[in-house]
Amino acid sequence: MVEALATPLADLPASALWFVGAVIFIFGLVAGSFLNVCIYRWPREQSIIRPSSHCTHCGKALRWYHNIPLLSWLALRGRCAFCGERISPIYFVVELLNASLWVLVWLKLGWSPQAAACFIVVSLFLIGMFVDFEHYILPDEVTVGGAIGGVLFSAAFPVLHGATTWEGGLLRSAIGALAGGALLWVVRWAGGLIFGRKKQTFESDVTLTLDKQRIGFDDGKEPEEEPLDEALTSRRERFEFHAKTGTVGGDRIDGMLVRITARELSVGGQRWPVSEAPRLVAATREIEMPREAMGLGDVKLMMAIGAFFGWPAVVFALIVSSVLGSVAGISLIVFGERKWGAHIPYGPYIVVGAFAWMFFGSEVVRWYLQQAGFQ
Ligand SMILES: [Zn+2]
Repeated sequence: MVEALATPLADLPASALWFVGAVIFIFGLVAGSFLNVCIYRWPREQSIIRPSSHCTHCGKALRWYHNIPLLSWLALRGRCAFCGERISPIYFVVELLNASLWVLVWLKLGWSPQAAACFIVVSLFLIGMFVDFEHYILPDEVTVGGAIGGVLFSAAFPVLHGATTWEGGLLRSAIGALAGGALLWVVRWAGGLIFGRKKQTFESDVTLTLDKQRIGFDDGKEPEEEPLDEALTSRRERFEFHAKTGTVGGDRIDGMLVRITARELSVGGQRWPVSEAPRLVAATREIEMPREAMGLGDVKLMMAIGAFFGWPAVVFALIVSSVLGSVAGISLIVFGERKWGAHIPYGPYIVVGAFAWMFFGSEVVRWYLQQAGFQ
């Protein structure tokens, strides 16, 4: 559990507070700029060391003055200095978020092992959050790396878990990691039972196409198309329906059962790897779309939280993330933003839950214990 203020900053004069705060902010920006490299390259399995920063569009290496956090993006008005291609505002947001959160952590926890742990968690989890937004995956560098890092850090600084010996820190950290993994595993399994199978029925025939690993959907109003591996993000997810009419590679498949997974197309017992599948066009009125509310990455992310902050943080982060997740999920449906079978990443909510724990966890737990009459 993150306990407040090992070194109270209240003694510092305001000028020192501003100066040190500004220095931490600048270091946070520089770190944030490195996080952006990880956010872009980790999911693409590229080295984060070589090559040096370059435009992802024209490939030209950036000059040092194109690489100044926040300022360069503003000065270039979010465009590449060489080719003019738009540079995502995410770069700006990540730098600003990392720097601001580092300052807030320092203001709350002062110079302490707890603050150091929070610096690491903030940066690592920001990577996870933004990768998950874009790719619907949480890189192992973040989740497994975070869990291992949390256990090692806890052995080095047992005070993080209120322990006094390295064995004590290690033990509580390991318990936290296991609790996090086990709890989310159960939630994921139960969620699969409750929400897993979703049958969508349409008022009139809709047309599904699968061609060159892209899946298309047309309800006569708004045709949509996307890469199959973005529509289906895990092996257990699939689309299943009976084709009223249709063809695969030119052959008629009227009345046959069609099943599309991220790897395989199967039509009436005949199967192809998706990469070699012939073009499929089929009309239907009912599609079953078993989806996963949570991925394995979410389970591993929760282990990292437990490793750094112990099991109470795991429970806290799960409650916060599920409340946020359902509010966001419901509002997406109400406001019509949610596309057919759209995937909503869960990782970002867990990250927000972990951040909420860092800043408010001990206060909330104290309040709760008081209400429950323990104190
Ligand atoms: Zn460029």
